[in-house]
Amino acid sequence: MTQRTETFDIGTLRLSSGEARRLDLDVPVDSFEFGGQRYAAPDEDVHVTLDVVRTTSGYSLRLRFLTALIGPCMRCLEDAGHELEVDAREIDQPGGGDELSSPYLDGDELDLKAWTRDALALTLPTQIVCREDCRGLCAICGENLNHAGPDHAHEREPDPRWAALRELKLD
Ligand SMILES: [Zn+2]
Ligand SMILES: [Zn+2]
Repeated sequence: MTQRTETFDIGTLRLSSGEARRLDLDVPVDSFEFGGQRYAAPDEDVHVTLDVVRTTSGYSLRLRFLTALIGPCMRCLEDAGHELEVDAREIDQPGGGDELSSPYLDGDELDLKAWTRDALALTLPTQIVCREDCRGLCAICGENLNHAGPDHAHEREPDPRWAALRELKLD
C-alpha cells in the first residue's frame, strides 16, 4: 500500500548530507477550472515519486508523476482527456535567498498537495481537445462538426436590406 498524504515531513527521513531517498506516495488532487471548464485527474489521487536529497545545508527535491486530465473538449464539448508527464524540481537552502527557498517547504514539512497541483498546472497544454483536428461546433447551428460531415453548410442569411426592398410596394 502506498501512503496517501497531503504533506510529508522530510525531517523524518533523517538523511545526512549527500544521502538520498526515493518515496512513492499518493497525493490527493482537486479538480480545477481551465478555460472555463472543469478538469480532474482520472483518480482522486495522483501517484507520485518523490526524490529527496539532503545537501550540505538544505534539500534538493524532485517530484515526478504521470496522470491525465479528463473533461470536456474545448472545441466540441465531448469527453476529452489529456495525458501529462510532470517532472518538477525544488531546491531549498536556508539562508540562500528567495531563489533557493522552496515555497512548498515549511521547515521540514513539504506541502505535496500544493506542489503537485502547481506542477500539474504548469504542464497544461494551451487547449484540451478530444483530438488534434477536432472541428468543433458549427457557429450557426451548434452541431458537432466531427459528426456532421464535410458538407455541413448553411445558406447564407439573406441580406436584410433586400428583404426591406421586397416589402416596398411598387406601383
Ligand atoms: Zn472535440
Ligand atoms: Zn450548422
